Amino acid sequence: MKTVIVTGGSRGIGAEVVKELARSGYYVILNYFKSENEAKKIQEELKIENIHVEIFKADVSKRNEVKELVKFALDKFKNIDVLINNAGIDQIKPFMDITDEDWNKMLQTNLNSVFYCTQEVLGNMIHNKKGCIINISSIWGITGASCEVHYSVAKAGVDGMTKALAKELGPSNIRVNSIAPGAIITDMNKNYTQEEINDMNELIPLGRFGQPNEIAKCVKWLVEDTYTTGQVISPNGGWVI
Ligand code: NAP
Repeated sequence: MKTVIVTGGSRGIGAEVVKELARSGYYVILNYFKSENEAKKIQEELKIENIHVEIFKADVSKRNEVKELVKFALDKFKNIDVLINNAGIDQIKPFMDITDEDWNKMLQTNLNSVFYCTQEVLGNMIHNKKGCIINISSIWGITGASCEVHYSVAKAGVDGMTKALAKELGPSNIRVNSIAPGAIITDMNKNYTQEEINDMNELIPLGRFGQPNEIAKCVKWLVEDTYTTGQVISPNGGWVI
């Protein structure tokens, strides 16, 4: 049985990752920040299926709160086998309007959180000589997105961290990969109009946005894989090939 921390597990992609892995027999620690009710609902939903998940509130953009999250996980389970760095925010703004505050919040939440969570779990993983880290980056980290420069920078940084760390941690039998989704139907995309969605669908060879569970299935595959490391895998319906 494996222990998994999923950051930002209360909604969207993270919530589906929590359910997919919990239903597959993993011990899951669901991290949430603001959505306590949603986190509790997932816990209740799985309880009906006789599956227990732990929930823990932490703002992963803050080192001290990440320390608390990892301490909670280690006190409960002794080991952390898998870390899914999923928590993230987005913001659509022309580059010239991005303030220092916008920039710092984006980098702190989408990039520094990955640095903090990874560093805090690694002591245990290196000691155990095994581990799997999956960073949820984005198609925009690969291609760049207009009016999302700070988001694109953060996600490109995550992919850089993935590749460099995979090299450093391979000898410790720890795999590090990114999953860089295309457009997925979650709250993050709720402000698009139907017309904008139709326009984007025309650019996607599979003709539609992805479902969060399609990313969760990719996560599960990668958790169970044994030879993939340092890769950026992009489930995006063929949008970027
Ligand atoms: P979402 O539905 O908006 O959910 C975001 C999740 O991140 C929530 O569970 C939220 O928790 C959590 N979160 C945000 N800030 C946090 C913080 N400081 N500390 C802890 N948790 C925090 O977004 P999503 O679409 O599922 O996105 C998940 C990941 O996929 C993100 O990294 C995103 O960049 C990436 N992604 C999404 C898409 C897409 O099209 N949806 C495409 C590419 C990549 P609370 O609500 O509890 O605060």
